[in-house]
Amino acid sequence: MRLDLPSLFLMTVAVTFTVGVLFLLSWSQTRRERALAVWGIAHIGGSAASLLLALRGQVPDSLSIGLANAMMIASYGLIWSGVRAFEGRPLRLGWAVGGGALWIAACLIPSFLESLPARVSLASTLAGLYCASGALMIWQGRGEPLVSRYPALVLMATYAGLYWIRVPLAFTIPAPTSLSMASPWFAILCFVGTLFSVAIAFVFMALTKERAEREQRLAAETDSLTGIANRRALVAGAERQLAVAPAALLLFDLDHFKTINDRYGHSVGDAALAAFCHVAAPLLPPKALFGRMGGEEFACLLPRLDERAAMRIAEAIRAAVAQFTHPDYPELAMRVSAGVAAESQIGGSLDYLLRRADDALYRAKHAGRDRVVAAGEDRRPLGETVDPGIGLRGNAGRRSRTRLP
Ligand code: GH3
Ligand code: MG
Ligand code: MG
Repeated sequence: MRLDLPSLFLMTVAVTFTVGVLFLLSWSQTRRERALAVWGIAHIGGSAASLLLALRGQVPDSLSIGLANAMMIASYGLIWSGVRAFEGRPLRLGWAVGGGALWIAACLIPSFLESLPARVSLASTLAGLYCASGALMIWQGRGEPLVSRYPALVLMATYAGLYWIRVPLAFTIPAPTSLSMASPWFAILCFVGTLFSVAIAFVFMALTKERAEREQRLAAETDSLTGIANRRALVAGAERQLAVAPAALLLFDLDHFKTINDRYGHSVGDAALAAFCHVAAPLLPPKALFGRMGGEEFACLLPRLDERAAMRIAEAIRAAVAQFTHPDYPELAMRVSAGVAAESQIGGSLDYLLRRADDALYRAKHAGRDRVVAAGEDRRPLGETVDPGIGLRGNAGRRSRTRLP
């Protein structure tokens, strides 16, 4: 197959430039993800560098070798810098363009400028370093579970590998006598450049889109005051869990919470709700699903725990809450009551489990509060159906515990 190199080359420049513009457009829509802007500038700079490279022989070497490669290296530096921004680190623009500056400094040495292997080695080493460091940062950020991280990682690491392989090859394989437009090297460079631009655009766009979607999903599932799961997320998670394993349910209700609001104000009440979660969360096992049911009521599903083990955890939380002191209000005493119920079979009903925990909580309140009560053995007769008006479907069907002594 014969390739028309000037056309191929023009396509590389056009594709890289278009990708850069698309990155900038995408950034301008929300201006939240700074990395998109940096990647956009990197691509536009890269397309300008490619154009200069292609003008070899038609413009002075200082431009087509010196400046073009410096810009190309700086483009990789900016891609690295964009990855830093994406991972929430400072941009470090000085380091991003530092590789290009180092290249220009090296070009001032005549023996370096005359040696193609030396030039290829330095340019490849620097571009490879930026790609490898970007890959490492993407790996280090894996605590944020984004599927697109892995193609991005593989792409950056592959490019680092490709660049570094060029270093020994530059010294062993005879260099082409000229790097003019007629050289087959240009076809390879064009292909690699275009592939990189397009592939990077896809994976980086996918990364930012995936992050935005994850943030929206988390916001929809999180209680904004306490940062734990909201009722909807807890119900969905608990139903999924009960379908595959037995579990225990803890139901907490802060005691005389209205009095805390009345005495100290609503904002202190808010802080007390957050403090309850802060105290309780570390005492829960890693697989626990903890959420706010609404108001000053919280629930926790403990997969694969029986009532006895769940009672121990609830009791530890109750005791820790009783010990809690607010730094600004040392006299503020927070207490909590809890009801505990367990489902020993797979496929249990969350509504029914909640009803039993709710009854136990009612008894805890009735017995004087600041205590944990177990629902006890499930005595449901075989075939009994569950009243859907009670439990997690809504508060409407639940009796009020507020009028208790
Ligand atoms: P009991 O021991 O019987 O549970 O008494 P209680 O005062 O805790 O129960 P009650 O249901 O009478 O009062 C709950 C209070 O919780 C009333 C409501 O104003 C308050 N509350 C509900 N949601 C919030 C919130 O988000 N922030 C604050 N500060 N208070 C809230
Ligand atoms: Mg309540
Ligand atoms: Mg209460």
